[in-house]
Amino acid sequence: MREVITDTLVIGGGASGMAAAVECVERGCRTILVEREESIGGVLNQCIHNGFGLHVFKEELTGPEYAQLFKSQIHQKGVEIQPDLFVVNIDPKRREVVTMGKGGCVVYRPRALIMTTGARERPFSSLRIPGTRPAGIYTAGVAQRFVNLYNRLPGDRAFILGSGDIGLIMARRLTLEGMKVLGVAELMPHPGGLARNIAQCLDDFDIPLRLSTSVVEVRGRERLEGITLAKFDPVTLQRIPGTEERVDCDTLILSVGLLPQNELIESFVETEPVNRGVKVDSFMRTTHLWIFAAGNNVAIYDLVDFVTLDGKIAGQSAARMVRDGFLPEKRIPLARSEQIGTLIPSFCCVEGQPFTIYFRSKKTMKKARVSIGPGIFETVRLGIKPSEMVDIPFTVKHFGKLKQLGLTKIEVSIKEVP
Ligand SMILES: Cc1cc2nc3c(=O)[nH]c(=O)nc-3n(C[C@H](O)[C@H](O)[C@H](O)COP(=O)(O)OP(=O)(O)OC[C@H]3O[C@@H](n4cnc5c(N)ncnc54)[C@H](O)[C@@H]3O)c2cc1C
Repeated sequence: MREVITDTLVIGGGASGMAAAVECVERGCRTILVEREESIGGVLNQCIHNGFGLHVFKEELTGPEYAQLFKSQIHQKGVEIQPDLFVVNIDPKRREVVTMGKGGCVVYRPRALIMTTGARERPFSSLRIPGTRPAGIYTAGVAQRFVNLYNRLPGDRAFILGSGDIGLIMARRLTLEGMKVLGVAELMPHPGGLARNIAQCLDDFDIPLRLSTSVVEVRGRERLEGITLAKFDPVTLQRIPGTEERVDCDTLILSVGLLPQNELIESFVETEPVNRGVKVDSFMRTTHLWIFAAGNNVAIYDLVDFVTLDGKIAGQSAARMVRDGFLPEKRIPLARSEQIGTLIPSFCCVEGQPFTIYFRSKKTMKKARVSIGPGIFETVRLGIKPSEMVDIPFTVKHFGKLKQLGLTKIEVSIKEVP
């Protein structure tokens, strides 16, 4: 068994892993990036639509274009890429990372580890929809891979369950490729995806969005023949009897959520029950102080730009820890008010550097007051939606206020205002 000693090891070559790796080599660390696929880029490789990079590059790029900008830097700056290599185990006590690939088993011993393993799609089995189990039911990411990477159409007449961004983008993609997309059903009374995707992917193609509606049955023996839809109460989310409607289709695309992927570390690092990802502090450091994390395995972000920025912080922090041998450890928790769902990070490092607080509101609000504190600062934001993350910079000035107030936790709250 071959053993490799390195300064930093990055697991996962998506947007966050690439950004983290570039920051590490720029700071003089020997950096190895391990990726299970044959090339790096992660989910960006299959997202051929545009809409990437508005914040980071100030232009609208496709996923592969966005990935290419980082791939070029990775090659120029000398990150050592190990594709086709699957990480199978991490031993936190021995600080060992065990990988399997075509060349057999290789064990890495990094001084700092950065986990950027992304997310996986919630599967059909988790929905507990009664009926048969025919062919023709795909998660949106799998359908996207078939169409965009392998040039294969999944069927002729599709219905989409879930109005997350991936489902909306696939509604447009399948229509452009010649399939009939009959509609998108969403259990919640509001859409799950970005407003711009509702407009550009559904409205522009006359694809109906049916809110407070879900699939309650699938039909077909070998191949899917149809589904049954029903309406759901917008408040109690209970099915409304008598509202059933049969729809004939041969393809059902599921866009019902992503789950942060942390099987390798969740037995020894703390996870955040609401985010469903690993807890990180404002250095993007987990509760194991040599392990950092960024991207969709921390929480499901909506924009690749935010994933990239947090990946950069993870890389900078890991490199600093390798160089100095430590990072300041004192950290205080961030707490959320009732109206807040996803919240990143979980802790603020008191002697840390500026960072961004990201959160999602549980409710749509025309105008909202966001408070960080109590007493650190307040700001007003317009057009808050559960599908769009709010980003709040925490600056040097706010660190000063935090010290002055002597707070032992930072509360993040949001309230609708007239
Ligand atoms: C369909 C879709 C459309 C999107 N559209 C937009 C958009 O228009 N605009 C926008 O800004 N954002 C968009 N996003 C969001 C953005 O693309 C993602 O948030 C971002 O690319 C995720 O990056 P990541 O690094 O967290 O994860 P990923 O890209 O998923 O990368 C994780 C990597 O880790 C690897 N990995 C996992 N486990 C292991 C292991 N054990 N061993 C080795 N490697 C492993 C995986 O193979 C993968 O390459 C979209 C996302 C999707 C899915």
